[in-house]
Amino acid sequence: AGRDGEPSDCILLYSPQDIVKQKYLIQSSTYSPERQKLLYTNLQYLIDYCNTNECLRNGILNYFGEEIEEEKCNNCGNCLSESEMVDITIEAQKILSCIYRARERFGATVIAQILRGSKSQRILDLGLDNLSTYGIMEEYTEATIKEMIMVLVSMDYIHMTADKYPVLKLTPSSASVLKGEIKVYHKKDLIETKQLGERKANIRRTVDLEHIEENYDRELFEKLRELRYEIAQENSIAPFIIFHDSSLKEMATYFPKNEEEFLKIKGVGTKKYESYGEQFIEVIQAYTENKGIDNSKIERKIIEVSRKVQGNEKDTYDYYLEGLSLEEIANERDLTVGTILRHLEKCHNNGQVIDWSRFIDPSKEKEILPVIDEIGTEKLKPIKEALPEDISYEDIRIVIIKNKIVKGGEK
Ligand SMILES: [Zn+2]
Repeated sequence: AGRDGEPSDCILLYSPQDIVKQKYLIQSSTYSPERQKLLYTNLQYLIDYCNTNECLRNGILNYFGEEIEEEKCNNCGNCLSESEMVDITIEAQKILSCIYRARERFGATVIAQILRGSKSQRILDLGLDNLSTYGIMEEYTEATIKEMIMVLVSMDYIHMTADKYPVLKLTPSSASVLKGEIKVYHKKDLIETKQLGERKANIRRTVDLEHIEENYDRELFEKLRELRYEIAQENSIAPFIIFHDSSLKEMATYFPKNEEEFLKIKGVGTKKYESYGEQFIEVIQAYTENKGIDNSKIERKIIEVSRKVQGNEKDTYDYYLEGLSLEEIANERDLTVGTILRHLEKCHNNGQVIDWSRFIDPSKEKEILPVIDEIGTEKLKPIKEALPEDISYEDIRIVIIKNKIVKGGEK
């Protein structure tokens, strides 16, 4: 390709982040102010070229002063693209006011998280969930908001500092967007592709519970339950703290024989593997040898479940049904344990069946109940203070819900 006259492809790779770098290079150069100004102008020309929806070939011809014959070459990315430009002025205004409200102290990720209404610890710790712009763009993905931010950077409506941790600031031209004097457009497919990409990532692969329920080895399951019971007795802990029934059933379906396989079981983390893994594997191994079961011939049935990022109690309940612990649900959903509890309480009040004993150690419950009887449930703090350190607010709330003690006594 090239001078041989054969057809060739030319690909324009571009990230708005490049602009920040280039601006930094110009800014820190020792060129004369005139030369710097020229470099800035050229850079802006290139940025416009990357963002334009016009014919790319004509853009180059125009730059070199050649005559343009047709409005469209019908051969470049833009001429062949079906994508239209969409008006993102309102989104731009939301982003700019968020930067302003957050007092121009944060980078693109934090700003996008505020706008999305993220429950991430950092956002909550900084109190950014109190901003009036918190959650006003929750219908967009974080990646899409960042894409829009970068578009605004490239159009100079946002200034991105050239530091190690770039911070977003308003520019003199931000005001005209905020006042609605200027409209902002962006290529529709760039925004949509990003959303599709994330939607794909929200498909979660998980074990097929129905398959396990139908196929698990009943005899091995009983043996594993016995082992669990013994360990629980030895350590004076509740059996479900070791493994849930659902985990045992999965073991009795796929017969894990080493650490790698064992860690694939839902509800087994490194910590649990280290504490109990070997004992369980031993029982499984003895059983499979005895019965002549070869687990390499058993195919793991995996199904795809869509993970709705924006969800409600129902999603939490679905996770609950999968046998996840409160912490696991909170992790999966990027929410706090407190919120998960609130969701489940709502489900409970709506008549959905929840086995609260799954979440509370009976020995803890035994300690909590008399204290509640004594001081009531109007406030949680005095209850917490009357109990040992290792009993958490969540534990207390679970016991209250489980025993249907109406908050505030007889009201
Ligand atoms: Zn073209």
